[in-house]
Formats: sequence, structure tokens, C-alpha cells
Amino acid sequence: MTNTRTFKIKGMHCASCAARIEKTLKGVEGVQSIEVNYGTESAKIAYNAQTLDHEKMSSHIAPLGYSLIADEPKSANGGMHDHAKKMKADEIAELRFKALSGIPLAIVSILFMAWEILGRYGYVAEMSHTIEEFMHHLMPIFATYMLFYVGRPYLAGVKRFFRHGAADMDTLVGIGTLTAFLYSFVVSAFEVPLAPYVDVTQSYYDVTIVVIAFIVIGKYLETRAKSRTGDAIEKLIGLQAKNALVIRDGKEIQISLDAVMKDDIVVVKPGGKIPVDGVIIEGASFIDESMVTGEPMPAGKKSGDSVVAGTINTTGSFTFRATKVGADTLLARIIAMVADAQGSRAPIQALADKISAVFVPIVMVIAVAALAAWLLIGTQYLGFSQALSLGLVSFVGVLVIACPCALGLATPTAIIVGVGKGARAGILIKDAATLEKLYKVNVIAIDKTGTVTKGKPEVIEVENVSKRSESEIIGIFAALETKSEHPIATAITEYGKSKGVTTAVVEKFDSLRGKGVKGMINGVEYVVGNETLMKEIGVKISSESLAEKTSKGWTPAFLSANNEIIATIFVADTIKSNAKTAIAQLHSMGMKIVMMTGDDENTANAIAKQVGIDQVYAKLLPEEKLIKIKELQQKGMVVAMTGDGVNDAPALAQADVGIAMGTGTDVAIESAGITLLHGDIEKVAQAISLSKITMKGIKQNLFWAFVYNIVSVPLAAGLFYPVFGWLLSPAIAGLAMALSSVSVVGNSLRIKGKKL
Ligand code: ADP
Ligand code: MG
Repeated sequence: MTNTRTFKIKGMHCASCAARIEKTLKGVEGVQSIEVNYGTESAKIAYNAQTLDHEKMSSHIAPLGYSLIADEPKSANGGMHDHAKKMKADEIAELRFKALSGIPLAIVSILFMAWEILGRYGYVAEMSHTIEEFMHHLMPIFATYMLFYVGRPYLAGVKRFFRHGAADMDTLVGIGTLTAFLYSFVVSAFEVPLAPYVDVTQSYYDVTIVVIAFIVIGKYLETRAKSRTGDAIEKLIGLQAKNALVIRDGKEIQISLDAVMKDDIVVVKPGGKIPVDGVIIEGASFIDESMVTGEPMPAGKKSGDSVVAGTINTTGSFTFRATKVGADTLLARIIAMVADAQGSRAPIQALADKISAVFVPIVMVIAVAALAAWLLIGTQYLGFSQALSLGLVSFVGVLVIACPCALGLATPTAIIVGVGKGARAGILIKDAATLEKLYKVNVIAIDKTGTVTKGKPEVIEVENVSKRSESEIIGIFAALETKSEHPIATAITEYGKSKGVTTAVVEKFDSLRGKGVKGMINGVEYVVGNETLMKEIGVKISSESLAEKTSKGWTPAFLSANNEIIATIFVADTIKSNAKTAIAQLHSMGMKIVMMTGDDENTANAIAKQVGIDQVYAKLLPEEKLIKIKELQQKGMVVAMTGDGVNDAPALAQADVGIAMGTGTDVAIESAGITLLHGDIEKVAQAISLSKITMKGIKQNLFWAFVYNIVSVPLAAGLFYPVFGWLLSPAIAGLAMALSSVSVVGNSLRIKGKKL
């Protein structure tokens, strides 16, 4: 039995950890697939639950310094989340202490360094011998604290390297700072015997102190900022009610959310939170659903309407029957989906991952090569002692600055912010790959009913060409249509009810998908449907005013029996008030909008013209929509398709990006790449601009992270020294490396504030 679960991971400190954990766990028998995300510090693992559990898997990565944290499957509202949150808070507190304690030490070392240099050149008074001696003894103590307490994770990286051959960014920093420390220690310990060979007055304790201080400060800022990238999900979790008022044994009692069961009768008071999903059975109210669906106007709800967990009642009060509880509520599914999407990996990250994976070993080779070059070539010009000094500076500088940390943060942090921002606006994104594809879309195929129009057509006219009475005809229409769920059917049955007609008994009912319905009444077979259907069964349509009426945007439903037309009902749907501006907006983004509908060609054209749609494909069966999308794709178009997610599922799947339009609770949010919770065409433009903003952020991040590493490594290695005299001091390398990670995370956070 394969189980797929997402675990939090403890102990991840840099992007290359992800690759290492993946590689290790992939080799474990029973693990089918694994995707580790550094951004969310989690792993999605598909594994054989019979032979493996999280503890066993965790034991494989424990020697490397990681562990998997299992969630408690029972609590939908995030037992794992609370635990992980506390862990994160502890981690931030610890980093904060380390950073704060490191700052004064770094400042003292920098001042001492500066005084020493400036004094040597006569800019300031030279240090007195006593102070100098005192400082020379103080520095090793500072360095010891920084390296062995603050820098412990980096030393652990060195240990991992020598034990398992696993090198990561911590290893680089660790080897760099440890080398500076050991060299200084050896030089001061063996001052006398070494004096003829090396400059024994030159020590590098300050490098160890300053580099670790900068990196820890950077790490602290980065971790703090990173925890803010994920706060969208926290807000969603915060929407959940803690308690619920339910009726048990005829009494109203307050119970905790977890205790609410399906079919419980839940009482909602004015201003109360709706605890679970359900259907109102008594009372009415307006409910503010903005936090879940993004729809700003409170929705009026009465008996029979559905309510969603996490939304807020306004002034009325009502009771409802719980239909979905725990992990099944829409809100819980949204939270799970957002978490999944935030943890998924964007294809654009593959390159960064590949580079990160080979980067560390390459950097170690470059660092050693730089040291060797200094010793071999530098000695001829500068003498051994000076060449060793500069070689050491290069060695440490290269190791410190080359950390591809920023590269590892570039994509996931932006994805986390982007997906979270979408969720807040009622745009649910299934995975990072979808978000990455969306901005490339240049054709949007939309359906008519429910997207351009409200999806609630009404009967406008009944055209009777037979000798039967109008009420008999409406009765036949209504009888056949009660069994269909098509919006046209709903319009006709409602109309029948309002006219008070009696509906006959229908036998052998059959629904002809995308065309109409048929059935027997009193031994006669009746067919209701569109022109295509009538043609198929050989019925001639003889409505004189058909063209005129369809051109008004009315949809005809023909009724026939015995190969003859009996009557036509025209229904019309209202165009959504924002459809025209939304389509204009999509046009301004360079999109081509095509309409794909099963409706009559005239009707579709009339509506398309009113809202400014470029092209119409009418009279399509659901499977033909899929073919049309394929055709567009063959012409090189990248197609997004909107649909209801149920009927149009195949076409949604064929499109490059499927956009499901949800309304209310029954949204199949897992069905498409993107789900617009409050099915609104305006949101399509917002989703596309979200994708654009996020991708732009990622590209900026990647660009700067790459440029930074490409430029800084040769600089630190001393490649420019012979020509310009440039050599990066390791302390500056530490600062630069810290800044690059912080700026990448900061740039990702900027996405939050962008207007959609
Ligand atoms: P769309 O969702 O694009 O309107 P459908 O495949 O749902 O397309 O329906 C296509 C057409 O088939 C409708 O426009 C209508 O003319 C006809 N049709 C489908 N179902 C019915 C029905 N129950 N009653 C009458 N006409 C129907
Ligand atoms: Mg449809």
C-alpha cells in the first residue's frame, strides 16, 4: 500500500540539504518518490506503508543531521503545523541570540583591525603595547566562542564532510572559518620555530569572528523573513473556528471543533463563525465569505443554501446540518492544497538545483587551487610568507562567498509568497508548475454559461406551432427537463412551476449530453434539445423568427414528437456585469479570447459580440472542446481553458492551464490547475498577473544569485590581484554572502505587496 504524505523536516539549513535528503531517501527500499522543498522545509514522500514509517525513514537521514516530523493525521487544523511553528520560533530565538551576541564581538574585532592598520600607516596614534597584547589574547577567546558555539552548525558541516563525504554550504563556511582559526592558533602557539618561515604577527582570528557574525546575522534575518513568506497559510488556519454550538439530545451545547460530526445540527448566532460545511435547515442570514472565496459582498443565504467553514455570519441566525467536517471541509482542503502547492517545485528551479548540487565540490576545488596558485606563483614574486597569507585569505574568501544559498532560496520563497497571495484572493493554485506556465498563456478559451453569463437563464418566450394548448406544452417540457441538471432545464422547470402546470410521468428518460433530453409520455417519444439534435433525428425546424431571436442572444430549446416540431422555448441568460471589462483587461494583457460553447451559433455570436470576444466555436460537444483546444495548441498557442470542472474536465486537462470556476461549496478544487473560488472571469486576469509577478520575482532572484556567485568567486580567488590589486577580504565575503540571501528573501516578500 502506497502512502503519500508530507512531513516537516528538522535540521535543514541550506538548499543543498534538499538534494542530499532526496538522494538518501530515494535509496531506501520502499520509498517510491520524494520531493524535498527547502522553502517550506518539508518532504512529500510516497512510500510503502507496510514496510516503512516516518521513524524508519527518519533514521536514514538522522546521521546527516535531519529528522522527519510526523503530523497527527486526525487534526485537520494542523497539529503538525503548531509543532512546526513552535520549532521555527525556537530556531529564530536561538539565531537571534547568536546574532546579538556576535555583533559586539565583531565590532570590537573590526575596530581593533582598523586601528592596527591605520596606526601602522600613521593615520592614528599607534596602539600601546599593553592594549595590543591584551587584544591579541582577547581575539582567540572571541574566536573560540564564535566558532565553537555560534558556528557549531558549520563545524557540523565539516564533520559531515569528513565522515560521509557530504559537502554543503555549511561545510564551506566551516572549513573556511576553521582554517583561519587553526592557522592563527598554530602561528601563535609555535611562534618561535615558525618565525623564519611565516609572518607570525599576522593572525586571522578576526576573520573567523567577523565571517561567522555576518553569516549568523544574515541567517537570522533570512529565517525571520522566510517565516513571513508562509503566513498566508497561517491566516487561513486562523479562519477556523475553535468551537461549535450543536444540538445534542435537544440541548444546545458548545463542543470543540474536532468533536463536530457529520449530520450534527449546528447553531450559528449573529456574528458567529461557521465551524464546518453544511446546508441551512432553518433561518436565514447574510454571510461574509470574503476570507474564503475572495468575494467581497456578503451573500444572502436561506434554508437549503450551503455554508462554508471559516466564513462569518452577519446579523441573522440560523441552524444548519453539517455535511463536511474535519479534513473534508472546503477550508481544510484549501489549506492542504496551498501547503502542497507551496511545497511543490517549480520547473524553473531545476537549473538552480543542478548548479547547487555540483557547486559545492567545485568551489572546494577552486579554493584549494587558489591556495596552491598563490603558493606556487605568488611565492616567486612576493616571497613565501606573503604568498601564504594572501593564499589563505583567498582560500577562506572563496569558501565563504561561494555559498549558493541565495540560489537555493530564489525560487521556493517566491513560490510560497505567490501561492499564498493567490489563496488570499480566492485563486487556488495546484502547484508551482501551473503558476510557472500561466504567464505564458496567450489564448483563453472560456465557456459561455456561468463564465460570461450568470448561468441562470430564464424563459423569455414560448413559441407554439402546434394545435395543443400552451400549458400542455409547458407541461411536457417541464416533465422532461425535471430530470436534467442543465441550466436550461432548470429555467424551464422553474417556468413550469410558476405557471402552475401539471407535469406528466416520463418513462425511458435519456439525457443526451451536450444536446438535450428525451423520454416517453403516454407512449409518445418526445425530444427536447438544440438544432443539432433535431437535425440528427430528422426534424425540420420551421421557426420563422429563429435567426432574429437567436441573434438577440436567446437560446432555443426545441420540442418534437413523431418527427415533427411542436414548440420552441427561448431562454436567455444575463451577461455578467463585469464580463466586458474583464475581457478588455485580458485583451490589454495580449490575450486572445475564444468562446467554446455547446450553444447555438447565433446565440453565442450575439453574446460574444456584446462582451468583445474574438472568436466563437459554437455547437461543440464536450469532447469537441478538447479537440478545438488541441488544434489551438498545434498552432503553437498556449491555451488556458475555463470551465466548471465537472462537465469540462477533459478539456480542462487538455489545456495548458485548466481554470475551474467554482461557486459555493461544491468546488472540485483538486480538479484543475487553478481554481477560482468565486467563479469570476475577472479573477482570470488576476491569476495571470499573479503568475507574471511571481515569475518576474523568481527571475530577478535567480539572476542576482547567479551573477553574485559568478563575479564573486574569481574576485575572492585573487584572479584580479595581479592586475588591479583586488582581493576580497574574507570578512567582506561573509557580509556579501549574508546580504545576498537576505535580499533574495526580501525580494520575494515584495511580491506580497504587488497589486494584482
Ligand atoms: P454549454 O455548457 O457550453 O452551454 P452544453 O454541452 O452544456 O454546453 O450544452 C450544449 C447545448 O445543448 C445547449 O446550449 C443546449 O442547446 C443543449 N442542451 C443540453 N442539455 C439540454 C437540456 N437539458 N435541455 C435543452 N437543451 C439542452
Ligand atoms: Mg456546460
